[in-house]
Amino acid sequence: MKLTTPGAAACQSCGAPMPTAKDHAGGREDSQYCRFCADKSGALLPYETVHENMAVERFMKVNGMPRKGAEDSAHRALKAMPAWKDKR
Ligand SMILES: [Zn+2]
Repeated sequence: MKLTTPGAAACQSCGAPMPTAKDHAGGREDSQYCRFCADKSGALLPYETVHENMAVERFMKVNGMPRKGAEDSAHRALKAMPAWKDKR
């Protein structure tokens, strides 16, 4: 799954592209996380929250996956991200 676009910022937690400032946490373009992965101050949310968001919002709603498959896919996707590299 390729989510990053050359030249565009991507969330270091979930890989989502962040083409505009409002896609960044807190609407701040210097934040390295998207608005789903961090709070308004730019602080990264707990792994469990990010994992749940990704499973539900991306894999279940967008890809139409059942919950079990969505959770497994979210787990695998997050393991590859810089923000969660110690979560292996
Ligand atoms: Zn994110």
